[in-house]
Amino acid sequence: MTSQEIRQKFLDFFKKKGHAVVPSASLIPENDPTTLFTGSGMQPMIPYLLGEKHPEGKRISDSQKCFRDVDIDEVGDNRHLTFFEMLGNWSLGDYFKREQLPWFFEFLTKELKLDPRRFYITAFRGNQEIGVDKDSESVEIWKQIFREAGVEAKDIDSAEKNGMKDGRIFYYDETKNWWSRSGSPSDMPVGEIGGLNSEVFYDLGADLKLHESSPFKDKPCHLNCDCGRFVELGNSVFIEFIKTEKGFNSLSQKNVDFGGGFERIVMVAQGEKSPFETDLFSNLIKKIEALSSRQYSDATKAMRIIADHIRAVSFIMGDDKGIIPSNLDQGYVVRRLIRRAIRYGRQLEIKQDLWTKEIAKEVIEDYKDVYPEMERNKEFVLNNLDEEETKFKKTLEKGLKEFEKMALRREPDKHGGVGVTHDQEELYGEDAFYLYQTYGFPPEMMEEMCKERGIEFDWNGFKTELKKHQELSRTASAGKFKSGLADTSEETKKLHTAAHLLLAALRKVLGDHVVQKGSNITAERLRFDFSHPEKMTDEQKQEVEKIVNEVIEKDLPVECQEMSLKEAKKQGAMGVFESKYGDKVKVYSIGDYSREICAGPHVERTGRLGHFKIIKEQSSSAGVRRIKAILE
Ligand code: ATP
Ligand code: MG
Repeated sequence: MTSQEIRQKFLDFFKKKGHAVVPSASLIPENDPTTLFTGSGMQPMIPYLLGEKHPEGKRISDSQKCFRDVDIDEVGDNRHLTFFEMLGNWSLGDYFKREQLPWFFEFLTKELKLDPRRFYITAFRGNQEIGVDKDSESVEIWKQIFREAGVEAKDIDSAEKNGMKDGRIFYYDETKNWWSRSGSPSDMPVGEIGGLNSEVFYDLGADLKLHESSPFKDKPCHLNCDCGRFVELGNSVFIEFIKTEKGFNSLSQKNVDFGGGFERIVMVAQGEKSPFETDLFSNLIKKIEALSSRQYSDATKAMRIIADHIRAVSFIMGDDKGIIPSNLDQGYVVRRLIRRAIRYGRQLEIKQDLWTKEIAKEVIEDYKDVYPEMERNKEFVLNNLDEEETKFKKTLEKGLKEFEKMALRREPDKHGGVGVTHDQEELYGEDAFYLYQTYGFPPEMMEEMCKERGIEFDWNGFKTELKKHQELSRTASAGKFKSGLADTSEETKKLHTAAHLLLAALRKVLGDHVVQKGSNITAERLRFDFSHPEKMTDEQKQEVEKIVNEVIEKDLPVECQEMSLKEAKKQGAMGVFESKYGDKVKVYSIGDYSREICAGPHVERTGRLGHFKIIKEQSSSAGVRRIKAILE
């Protein structure tokens, strides 16, 4: 079965079960400044899981393009990619566990004809402290499913300590089998929804001896062991709780969110040992073999990384949003992936100039029927690859030489003479920053190069240098702060501070579900997008204005503190809990009234703002409202 057929089979299967099949959302999230990329099928569905009506009904299915920067170091193993497709199906207040669990199993064993004995299951263990019982309902359903398939299915607890024995269904705690946007049950604010999940794993076989050769060999192998023997294929999340002051209550609308890794499902359906050996990657690997005159079997890791990275950037740049390699946000991720791929290409001694586009051409050819935007943006992708490759190759060789010198430094001996040459213990921050600025070496790439040499990479030193430099060139270079400010005039700063007051007031008046979805501030007005399912009433708008103006009149100081992300979260700061360079953030507080992670700048006291006025409140997109406001 080809991968195309498998994707189609999944969508057809759920269509037959009454689902509307919808196209993938963009890889670049709309109106969501909290994250750079769409990383799961659920992400674009959140408004509907929160109660917004989906135009296509209560049963939805799709294949969603996903990108996970956090998995980049895992690429090369037998199951992680940066870009992947997530097959999904959703019940928005319709069916629940009794349908969902048997359906996915039916798809795997009947449609894909996989052996039922290869599948293993996880379920939530239960936690008395939070008052949520173990997921006996799912376990009973699974037992019946396996019984009907003629497979014995015992449920076993604590396999991570005691081994799997002869179990089929395994209990894990909330770090594995609980879902909410904020993470574990204790991190969830009152009013947030969450639920249990149940995962399906596939056994690649003990004969592969993955466990024996892994760093985990002294511990028992179990489903969530990282050795790679068991691969998670899919995860059914059952959203059924809402957190209250007193604990968890049942929701009236219960939802199902299912996400399955397409490349992993193709890999087991095609009987392969990793996604890279499936037809999803075969053309790319063949191309890399041809370009490098090397064999996949003896350059596996490098070829996997190149294939993954060029495929990922082809999708990101191929996604109508016009993302190009740069030093900011998504563009920086693209740049980093391309440059890392080029460095691996150098290791493989690829001779051809401008070779990255040759691989992108294969990606586009393979996917253009399913994702027509790839064909539309083909020239854009290829040209940008050429440009970035040209740029980086100009400096790569020189930069590598410099790096060698810096990593292997001659130090004077005690008497001032020429001392011994020895490996540095680390690449100093200033040196790293020099390589970054002069030769365009992404810090993550240098960290990897340091690791290969067994030396440390001085992240803190690098960040300090970067900050110094940014402070100098801030206004000039970027022309735009991350916070969405167009300039730093006094008027703009005032409106920026007003935006913080506005968010706090909206949360007071409308509820804690309100989070910022985007903002754009000029010297004349502020535009502010936030999550809220319906039009605001006139009374609500007046109430918001009143609260903001009261805080302005109090003339409160606007204070800025630097702290760790963790601390900021603990203090209940609003904002983007993601950071590119380490985890120090700025938190701006206005009395007890507002606390936000933010890059600034702001005015010093609220008294400067004048009179706050909402001039428009309108819809921005599904589940997102937009306010335009001014200061008079
Ligand atoms: P894992 O623990 O294996 O990294 P996960 O718990 O991060 O998986 P989920 O967030 O539950 O995965 O995502 C749903 C499905 O998406 C997974 O069951 C898996 O099949 C797939 N998936 C997740 N991350 C990746 C990845 N980096 N590459 C390929 N497929 C992935
Ligand atoms: Mg993961």
